[in-house]
Amino acid sequence: MATESRIEKLLKESDATIPRGTVYLVEDRCKGCGLCVEFCPKGVLVISDRFNKKGYHPPELVEEPPLKVCINCGFCERICPEFAIFVKKKEE
Ligand code: SF4
Ligand code: SF4
Repeated sequence: MATESRIEKLLKESDATIPRGTVYLVEDRCKGCGLCVEFCPKGVLVISDRFNKKGYHPPELVEEPPLKVCINCGFCERICPEFAIFVKKKEE
């Protein structure tokens, strides 16, 4: 994608870094509502094919570095009605 290439170039030329997060899922709390997937601004969460103990499909993280990565924004954590997903800042 042309826009991403430009952003990648700018990042390489500057000292800027993209904040990164590590996503944790308490899989059996998930009810598969998909809110975290819908509202993740980076589109790195997808509904998986797996079933949890409740019979729902929990999300999973699909990253494509360097740009399509979890940025530790915390939206998924805030929006999850089941407190099933949380993120922690990834140290470089
Ligand atoms: S913290 Fe933000 S970028 Fe990371 S998975 Fe959650 S919503 Fe997506
Ligand atoms: S918002 Fe919570 S309950 Fe809904 S799919 Fe995501 S992790 Fe599961």
